[in-house]
This record gives sequence, C-alpha cells and structure tokens, in this order.
Amino acid sequence: MTHNTHSGVLSRAQLAVTGDHLSNIREARAAVFLDRDGTLIQDVGYIKAPDQVELMNSAANAVRRLNYAMWASIIVTNQSGIARGLLTEADYRAVQARLDDLLAERGAFLDGHYFCPHHPDFGGPCDCRKPGTALYTQAALELAVSLKDSVWVGDRWRDIAPALHFGGRGILVPNAATPPDDLAKAREQLEVAATLTDAVHMILHV
Ligand SMILES: [Mg+2]
Ligand SMILES: [Zn+2]
Repeated sequence: MTHNTHSGVLSRAQLAVTGDHLSNIREARAAVFLDRDGTLIQDVGYIKAPDQVELMNSAANAVRRLNYAMWASIIVTNQSGIARGLLTEADYRAVQARLDDLLAERGAFLDGHYFCPHHPDFGGPCDCRKPGTALYTQAALELAVSLKDSVWVGDRWRDIAPALHFGGRGILVPNAATPPDDLAKAREQLEVAATLTDAVHMILHV
C-alpha cells in the first residue's frame, strides 16, 4: 500500500498560503496582524483626518512589547470609506502617518500597513476585504512572515477568522461595539482577551 506517496509534498497553492517556501530563502518570522479601528485606535467611524486619530490606552505599550519580542506587527484594515467616496487613499495614508507618529513618540513601530479600499456594494467583491485572506498572503510574501505561526487580533470576528484559514491563533479583544455573535464564535473557535495588553501576554506567554 502506498498511502503516503505524496506526504510531505505541498502544492503551490499550499505553499502560497503557509509561507513555508520563504523559510528556504530567509528566516520567516511570526507576525501579529492587528486590526486598526477599535483595536489600536478609537473607532469613530470613517476616519478621514489625522486629528481624528486617538490611540487606544494600551496600544503603544502593546506594539512596543511585540517590537522588543521580535514579532512583526502588521495592521490589516478594511477601509470601505474609500469605496464609498467618504475618504481618499491620500486621506487614509495621512491617517496612517499620524498613527505611526503617535506610536513613534512612545517608542513603538509597525512593520507593515495593509488596507482594503473596497466594499461589495460599491464596486463589487474583492479578495482583500477581511475576512478575505489576500492581504495576509501579500504581507507574508513581502515581509517574510510565517502565517501558520502568526496571530490575528481584532475587535470583530472577521479580524480573527483568517487564523482558521492559515492555522495560526486568533484573539478577539471585544469592546462595546463588538457583536455578541462575534464574541460567541471567538469563544467557541478561537480565543478571547479582555484587553489588548492581555492579548499580548497570551502571545508572548508572559
Ligand atoms: Mg475594528
Ligand atoms: Zn478589497
């Protein structure tokens, strides 16, 4: 019997999503994929201007601890306000720069920023709107990230659901706006932390 003829051989598609091929080229490291609105900064709707950016209480400390521990800290955010015509990509990038400045003032930095500007009702579906996985695959290729060793953190189920696809961990950090169904699914299938600080402790095993 030769059940195992193909054992150990990954298809091209499997390689693309696991990032395993990167480890042959250079050391792939684990990442924490962080949601932006409601996770790192206050969610005040479609943020268009830099002066609307307000860090969540523990955000800078959380990112700095990940920086010191050599985890890549990467924002992946749905920004359908762009598809809706409420803000431009230039607005988004100005907000991103403000967030980077606020973190830098506190000794923290992000290794990457990825955003989906689309919305299915405004221009059709895409592969990158969370829980879509395209931006994670792109980040893995560009930043040498091992997705199966990575962690997804956010305040909605769609932020952490990609962990099920890639085989990593997903930690929901709920807030007052988190739908009860999202919390129930996270408790059942992934993990939940009371605060971003607690999530970082769970990631760093401290
Ligand atoms: Mg959010
Ligand atoms: Zn998209």
